[in-house]
This record gives sequence, structure tokens and C-alpha cells, in this order.
Amino acid sequence: MLVDCGEGSLGALCRRFGSGVEGRLLGLTRVWISHVHADHHAGLCSVLLARAHALAREHGRVSATALKAGCQRAQVPAPAFPVLAVVADEPVRGIVLDTIASLEASGVRVWACCVAPSTPLPWPPLHSFFVRHCHRALGLRAELGPATSVVFSGDTVPCRAVVEQATGCTMLIHEATFSDAMAEDASRKRHSTVGGALGVARQARPGVTVLTHFSQRYSHMTSAAKIADSADSSAPGSGPVLLALDGMQLPVDAPQCIALASQVRRVYRVVCARSHE
Ligand SMILES: [Zn+2]
Repeated sequence: MLVDCGEGSLGALCRRFGSGVEGRLLGLTRVWISHVHADHHAGLCSVLLARAHALAREHGRVSATALKAGCQRAQVPAPAFPVLAVVADEPVRGIVLDTIASLEASGVRVWACCVAPSTPLPWPPLHSFFVRHCHRALGLRAELGPATSVVFSGDTVPCRAVVEQATGCTMLIHEATFSDAMAEDASRKRHSTVGGALGVARQARPGVTVLTHFSQRYSHMTSAAKIADSADSSAPGSGPVLLALDGMQLPVDAPQCIALASQVRRVYRVVCARSHE
């Protein structure tokens, strides 16, 4: 499952999984999209296209194997691939439907549909809830096991809905677009600062909090320094906190994440130090 699919998602998947990316695309059955801003869905077309090509190649492989086994061409089974459900609310739904329709109109069979967030789907159970960002922006709670749940804030200012959903969850992934020094920008653009996100964590007490969605408007190095400083000064009382890195892979297990937290913080510190050399 992909949670949001911004521009560059396919490239990130390729970097992460290398030659295994095709298998991952074949196994992808759900994409959940939080809201209408392009950095959360602009990569959907590329992912659908790459998955369609992977499915076509898979069909070719299945057909070739059947023919080699002595089947007549007419006996080779027609492909029946799992349909990918893109979970999206209005107004993203219209964009998703247009994307699927334009790919299909150009002759690409994408094996995908768009469903409302309230649609019951196979595992894992998802619960979408409204947050405070733009029109109908959503956060997500995913139940991964009897005592394992992940809550994703989407883009939002710190809000009660995230606190309620994240209370007692295993992992809270919260946006922290701005450093604490940019609280005015955060409020105007309806995003969170690092301190605001950690305030949510202090109230919800998740097993671990992962901060992400750091602003790209500022130099990466400066941003890293400010984020690390903000996290250090705002952290007391908010429980274990990790700062997300591109391509980071985490177990949904608070003790294992806690063991990684200091290493991740060290990476940010190294980035900061190098920026001052
Ligand atoms: Zn947004």
C-alpha cells in the first residue's frame, strides 16, 4: 500500500527496491491519498503506468509459460490481475478518475479504480478522518494487528482529530513542515511546526512519533539544523521521536524504533555539521 503518491514516488520506489521494484508494483493493491495538493498525488500517473507495464510483462511471462507447456494460444488464460484501489475523497477523486481514464484512453489497461474512503476493503482496515488543512483533507489510521496501529496526520495544523486517533497507537507519523522559528508561516499555510507536532504527541502518547514532510523551500542543510534543534527543544514529554529521512525503512515496533532514534538524530547532526564546513 502507498500512503500518498507525490511526484517522484516511482523514482523513490526504484531507489528503494532496485530490481525488485516490479514485484512491488505487481503486489501493490492500494494507494490512499490524503488531499488535493499536488505533492500528495502528482506521482500517481507514473506509478499506475509502471504497474500497468509490469502487469503486461507478467501476462507475457504467464502466456509464454503456458504456450511452452503445450497450450494452444486460445487456451492461454486471459489475465485477471488484482485491481488497485485508489482511496480518495473529493476533490482528489475527480483527478484520480481523470488519470485512470486518460491512461485507459491511450490504450493502457491499468487495473485500477477509485473508491471513497468509507469503502470497506481487505486488510488492513483503514479509518480516514478529517484534519485541518485544506478542503476535505484527511488523516489516516491503519490497524495492522490486534495491538498495532499507525496514524498518519496528512497535512494539518495540530488538531484534536489526530490526538484522538493517535491516542495509544503504536506509531504516529506527523507532518512537521516548519521549524519552530516559522510558526507564523505554519499557521498561515495550515501546517505544523516541529513543536506543534510534538505537542500532539505529548497529548496522544503514541509508542513512537515520526516527524516528516519538512519544507523543501529552505536549503536542506539549514532545514536539517533547524529541525534537529526544534526537535531537541520541543521533545521533553512527547515520548520517543524520530526524524524521517528519504528512503527510511522502520519496523512498526516502538522499542525497535526507539533504538534507532539516536542514530537518526546523529545523521541529522552530521548533515548539520557538514553544512557548516
Ligand atoms: Zn497540503
